[in-house]
Amino acid sequence: MAVKQIQEEILTLKKEQDVVILAHYYQPIEIQEIADHLGGSLGLSRLANKTDKNYIIFAGVDFMAETASILNQNKKVLIPNPESCCPMAAYLTADKVKEYRINNPNLPVVVYINSTAAVKAESDICCTSANAVKIVKRISSEFNTKAVLFGPDANLADYSEQKSGIKCIKMPEEGNCYVHSQLTIEDMEKIRIAHPKSQILVHPECIREVRELADFIGSTGQMYNLVKNNTTLESDFCIGTERGLMERMVQDFPNKNFHLISEKLLCYNMKKNTIELMRYVLDHLDDPMFEVKVPPEIAKKALKPIEKMLEYS
Ligand code: SF4
Repeated sequence: MAVKQIQEEILTLKKEQDVVILAHYYQPIEIQEIADHLGGSLGLSRLANKTDKNYIIFAGVDFMAETASILNQNKKVLIPNPESCCPMAAYLTADKVKEYRINNPNLPVVVYINSTAAVKAESDICCTSANAVKIVKRISSEFNTKAVLFGPDANLADYSEQKSGIKCIKMPEEGNCYVHSQLTIEDMEKIRIAHPKSQILVHPECIREVRELADFIGSTGQMYNLVKNNTTLESDFCIGTERGLMERMVQDFPNKNFHLISEKLLCYNMKKNTIELMRYVLDHLDDPMFEVKVPPEIAKKALKPIEKMLEYS
């Protein structure tokens, strides 16, 4: 069946049922096109919190659906492909966090929103790539420490340490996003030569050497807003994050030019959700296979660091 036809069927079924569709910017473009809301993981979860619909279809990866479940315990959160998992989140377990705490008493634990619900439940505060620097400063000041424990992304920890001046002890040293950490100095040099008048935007999950060669470092939402608010005619951007964001921007800003820094910027895990699966889920809303439900006792503990982040950001 043609993609357009599946999209039309989804839009019709969605109207007839008690459903809201949330999609991350890294989702395949045909899923982005039929979503009720698009955005980064936390922004979407916040929206999910406000919906009056009982079924939330979260087109993203596992930790995003879990966050939606933590914030919406009375609603049914569904993920189109239960195998859409984030390998970066898998770098840190709740037991590991406990071990780090024992070895580093008195230090606050900051965990990236890209982590499992069980890990969030063991933390003092969550952060996103947009607010990590601010959160590190605030929580270290509250605990009166010059260091924090930070996981699971070692590159975001490094970036937060650089910008805040507070030591961010990595949990673990090797935690990374395979998509962003693949970008190299050579990729940056090549794109600069190919598009000398372009602004180069990269994500803080990139390695330090790559970040240092960029014109702007920010989250997906910050990149999107920078492009949106740029009023220069014939503006030109090189994008250093998963290609789904660039596909979104190409559609939303047809008068601007975009170049993907590298063809490697593809998250296979995000792309496990397909338009066909979205259509299938709409016919199987009560099939437990698609449901992501964080157990109430973990959800209760994990909600606190999320709420604290919202208060501090
Ligand atoms: S882009 Fe990176 S952090 Fe995001 S889901 Fe894929 S692997 Fe995880």
